[in-house]
Amino acid sequence: MLVGCPKEIKNHEYRVGLTPGSVREYVAHGHQVIVETGAGMGIDAGDDAYRAAGARIAENASEVFEKADMIVKVKEPQPSEWTQLREGQILYTYLHLAPDPDQTRGLVESGCTAIAYETVTDDHGGLPLLAPMSEVAGRLSMQASATALQKANGGRGVLLGGVPGVKPGKVTVIGGGVVGINAARMAIGLGAHVTIIDRSLPRLRELDNIFQGRVETRYSTVEALEETVFDADVVIGAVLIPGAAAPKLVTREMLGGMKKGAVLCDVAIDQGGCFETSKPTTHAEPTYEVDGIVHYCVANMPGAVPVTSAHALNNATLRQGLALANRGLEALTDDPHLRNGLNVHRGRITNGPVAEALGYEL
Ligand code: NAD
Repeated sequence: MLVGCPKEIKNHEYRVGLTPGSVREYVAHGHQVIVETGAGMGIDAGDDAYRAAGARIAENASEVFEKADMIVKVKEPQPSEWTQLREGQILYTYLHLAPDPDQTRGLVESGCTAIAYETVTDDHGGLPLLAPMSEVAGRLSMQASATALQKANGGRGVLLGGVPGVKPGKVTVIGGGVVGINAARMAIGLGAHVTIIDRSLPRLRELDNIFQGRVETRYSTVEALEETVFDADVVIGAVLIPGAAAPKLVTREMLGGMKKGAVLCDVAIDQGGCFETSKPTTHAEPTYEVDGIVHYCVANMPGAVPVTSAHALNNATLRQGLALANRGLEALTDDPHLRNGLNVHRGRITNGPVAEALGYEL
């Protein structure tokens, strides 16, 4: 198969779908790889590194889209990209379609077969291709929130760890999955007081075991949300209902009960956000304020640390990518987990929650 990797074009997105190390693996399995010039610049991998790995370098994205049987990317295709996709071509990338009717229409009209990293599953009920980016975003969310909390950045002016004799800041993490646990780990490392809210009791038990009394756990009810959000200096939104739009757990009205200058960091923004007042922001302008509350809602957080996240992503996507290259769509027939990644096929939506969210027939 001819596998293509264009340069990412989303705002401040420096990751790349294929590292030179992954290119070597595809080539070793008998495939050809075409990579757009400069695609790896953000991770310090120049065209020569890709050539040495066995790739051909394309002068522009159009050449990659035109020639490749399978496109491997990081972020959802942008309008100028989805118009270049064609029937029979495989797109293997993050899509996050539920909150994105325009992209969904674009992919449906293209006739391509789109496999979304974020809905590929594993035997343990996890999302193995989302997990590494959730690890990065979870850890980064505390760095971003601690910075946003500084007075000069519009925040309350609280140091999360406090100092001897002065109490630490309070962090509420809503959703104790991969993002949540990584955010909590960093918050504990900074010395903050941490509460994790989840609607899964087994998950809360696990977290209690892992953190051994260093976090408070709360079952997700409106009461628990109000108490902990009103008391927090930082709230991390980290919920997920796989494939579906995120539930709005912090309403605009609730902002009135929060401390002025507190930070709402909505990591779930790529699924539409779990705060009513969230709207996607970029690394260029990551925060905005509503009713005195600082909002950080960057939809591609791992893009800020591409060297770490591109390698972490490739570690997670390579095995299934090779299966697709080796066997084409046959790879989906005997791997139900990879099949769960199928979101769009020849003009139809094939993922239940996406179809439901956007009013398509399955
Ligand atoms: P996960 O499935 O590991 O965890 C989600 C958790 O949310 C689960 O424990 C679930 O029980 C909990 N949950 C669901 N509904 C809830 C509710 N009503 N109240 C409390 N908890 C609830 O998911 P994850 O990998 O941690 O991802 C979380 C979100 O972060 C997703 O939307 C994901 O797409 C997003 N994400 C964003 C970025 C970014 O750059 N912004 C990067 C990676 C992941």
